[in-house]
Amino acid sequence: MTCSKFFSYKLVVVALLLLNSCKPANEIPPEIAGHAAFDYVKKLVAFGNRFSGTSEYLMQADFIAETASAYGCKVNFQDFVEQTAKGKIKFRNIVADIKGKSDFYLIISTHCDLKELSGVNFQGANDGASGVAVILEMIRTLKSSGLIPPVSLRFIFFDGEECQFEYSDQDGLFGSRWYVASMTEYERSKCLGVINLDMVGDRDLQIAIPANGDHALTELALNAAAAGGNGEYFRRSSQHIIDDHRPFLKSGIPAINLMDFEFGPANSYWHTEEDNIEKISPESLEIVGNTVFLMIWRIKK
Ligand SMILES: [Zn+2]
Repeated sequence: MTCSKFFSYKLVVVALLLLNSCKPANEIPPEIAGHAAFDYVKKLVAFGNRFSGTSEYLMQADFIAETASAYGCKVNFQDFVEQTAKGKIKFRNIVADIKGKSDFYLIISTHCDLKELSGVNFQGANDGASGVAVILEMIRTLKSSGLIPPVSLRFIFFDGEECQFEYSDQDGLFGSRWYVASMTEYERSKCLGVINLDMVGDRDLQIAIPANGDHALTELALNAAAAGGNGEYFRRSSQHIIDDHRPFLKSGIPAINLMDFEFGPANSYWHTEEDNIEKISPESLEIVGNTVFLMIWRIKK
C-alpha cells in the first residue's frame, strides 16, 4: 500500500464514520428500561385474579387503558359477549394506537387475561403480565423519547387467550378471533404484520419462535435480536403453538409469536404457583422489548 492510497483509505473511513454519526436520530430505536417493565409486572399481578369477565380483569383493563392513554396512545375498548363452556362471558380487548410516519402499521399484541384453574392460585407474572408489561414500557419509552416510529403501531391487549377447557374454534383465543373478524378491508390492507408476545419474562430467557409463524417476520426477529447483541436468546422452534397469532395467520395476515415455552425445567412452572414475580427478570423483559423496537425500526414498508 502506498502512502497516498493509505491516506485516501483513511479519508474514506473518516467519511463513513461521519456519515454514520450524521444519521437522523430517528433511525435508532429507543430502548426500554427493564426495571420499569418489571414494576409494571408488579402492578399487574397486584390486581389479583384477572380472569375474563371479572371485576379484577376490568380494573386491570382500566389501568392498561389509562397508562397507554397517559403516554399518548389513542385507546379503545373492544367489548363483546360470547357464549362459552362456562356460560356467557363479557370480554374486553384493549386497543392502543400510536401514529407513525406511515399509515402502514404493525400490531404488537399480547394477552392480559389469567388462566382460571381450580385449586391453583397463581400470579401469572410470566403468563399474562410479562407481555403486557413489555408493551406498556414500550409505550412509555416511545413517549419519553419523543421519537416517531417509522410505521404506525397498534398495541392490542387481548382478553380470553386462555381456553376454559380445551382449545377449539369455540374455546380459547376469544379476543384475537373476535378482533380478526372485526378488521375492515382498509385495516387489513395497511397491516404489515403481527408480533405477539407471550411468556417473555423467564429469568432463563429462551425465545423459541414457533414454526407456525410468518417466515419474513421470523427472519426479522432473529436479525433484530442479533443486531441488538441478543441473538443467543432467540431461535427457531419446530413446534406449532396455539396462541393469539394464529387467528391472524389463518386469515392471511403475517404473524409471529415471541414466546419462551420452557418456563422452568420441562416447562414445569407454567400454569402453576411457580409462575410468580420471583421467576421473571427485568433483563429478560428488556431484551424482548428492545428486540421488538429494532423489528419496528427495520420493518420494510
Ligand atoms: Zn397460559
